Amino acid sequence: MDKILEQLPKKAKDKHNENIKLFKKLNKKPPKHLDNLMVELHDNEFEKTDCLTCGNCCKTTVPWLNDQDVARIAKHLKLKEQKFIEEYLEVGEDNELSFKSAPCVFLGFDNECSIYNIRPKACREYPHTNRRRFHKISAITLENVAICPAAFNIVEELKKRLPIQYSEKGGKPREKFRRGGG
Ligand code: SF4
Ligand code: SF4
Repeated sequence: MDKILEQLPKKAKDKHNENIKLFKKLNKKPPKHLDNLMVELHDNEFEKTDCLTCGNCCKTTVPWLNDQDVARIAKHLKLKEQKFIEEYLEVGEDNELSFKSAPCVFLGFDNECSIYNIRPKACREYPHTNRRRFHKISAITLENVAICPAAFNIVEELKKRLPIQYSEKGGKPREKFRRGGG
């Protein structure tokens, strides 16, 4: 897995223009069966993916937390919500909340999450490859394919299943890595 993770940013960069073209096409005319197809591709990939050998999302990105996440995790830690926010979270420009830093403080050396059953919604849903209207989260997916080997493979499989002619032109990769949960 170490080698896969080491090579992933370069592989994602090489595919970036192609992926932009894919999302442009999908946004123009999403296939009717896209939601079902994404569930199928996501399930197939995660059947053969062992996240415990990876943990790259928890090591390199910070998830957003919604109000329910804050209430649930604060209760679990036996902290007042305000205390939990002060100790563990960063408040963004628009008052959005995320963990202060990556790697996540709840990630164990064995890649186990110590709050797995009550983890934030954004963690549960990462890398969002089975969500409805997948084409609407192109910006975050373009980032995730450089972080998550499963997301990379899912997008590659999607391109095989929706053959499109890919040009060489496209925009630059984004550089800010955060995990959306919406
Ligand atoms: S809460 Fe758990 S799943 Fe979420 S980033 Fe931290 S270790 Fe990973
Ligand atoms: S979701 Fe992706 S990045 Fe996170 S541990 Fe699993 S394979 Fe790795």
